[in-house]
Amino acid sequence: MEESIHKAKRNPAWTRDELILALDLYLKNRHSSSGKQQPEVQALSQLLGKIGEALGLNGGGSFRNENSVYMKLSNFRRWDPEYVKDGKTGLAKGNKDEELVWNEFAGDPSKLAAVVAAIRAAVESPSPEVRELTGKDEPGIEEAEEGKVLTRLHRYRERNRALVEAKKREVLKTLDCLQCEACGFDFAKAYGPAGIGIIDIHHTKPLHTLKPGETTKLSELALLCANCHRIIHSKREWLSVEQVRALRKDWR
Ligand SMILES: [Zn+2]
Ligand SMILES: [Zn+2]
Repeated sequence: MEESIHKAKRNPAWTRDELILALDLYLKNRHSSSGKQQPEVQALSQLLGKIGEALGLNGGGSFRNENSVYMKLSNFRRWDPEYVKDGKTGLAKGNKDEELVWNEFAGDPSKLAAVVAAIRAAVESPSPEVRELTGKDEPGIEEAEEGKVLTRLHRYRERNRALVEAKKREVLKTLDCLQCEACGFDFAKAYGPAGIGIIDIHHTKPLHTLKPGETTKLSELALLCANCHRIIHSKREWLSVEQVRALRKDWR
């Protein structure tokens, strides 16, 4: 316990991204006992160092070293029904998100693999986009299940001016107004000239399919009013545009 308090002071808590990658390794080695010195543990430690850098987490010299990776793998045992079935308990809980990440991903290997691949691609990519991943979490935007890296990549694309303007131009070619795709709100209709051109852009592609540096298709972007966009990102497990539309039963 003393040791973990000491560590928490020096290094930030594990992010979901990191827990997802650790869970992936835990499940791969579930039936073999892995040591601290194993190459996979070392490789994960290095990858976590890159994630820390990409996200601007302030890691000291011991940031996600092999010991701390090994410890985190042991933390997962606690949530593993196969491990605890004979009365073993595993290590004490290290972090409140461990159980959530276990529940969300341990039973869904294909989703886990896709998310792991997307996070890895994002932090290992030479794309300049990756430099935009540092910074702060935005108020009102709940981090997605898939963690910070993909959340920030998603939000970065949504704010990309060139993309936003291209999407608006495309819509205006066929419609003569910019309307929220979930509730029909039209800023220009509601506010007059002050509302012309105002609308949010939401990126609809599933987060685990985002690749750094890839070209975003305009068809992957949706127009949303600020309220509907806020609803989408306000809870973990972001809603789809269709789900928000269904919530707005009074529209039409
Ligand atoms: Zn709306
Ligand atoms: Zn969005």
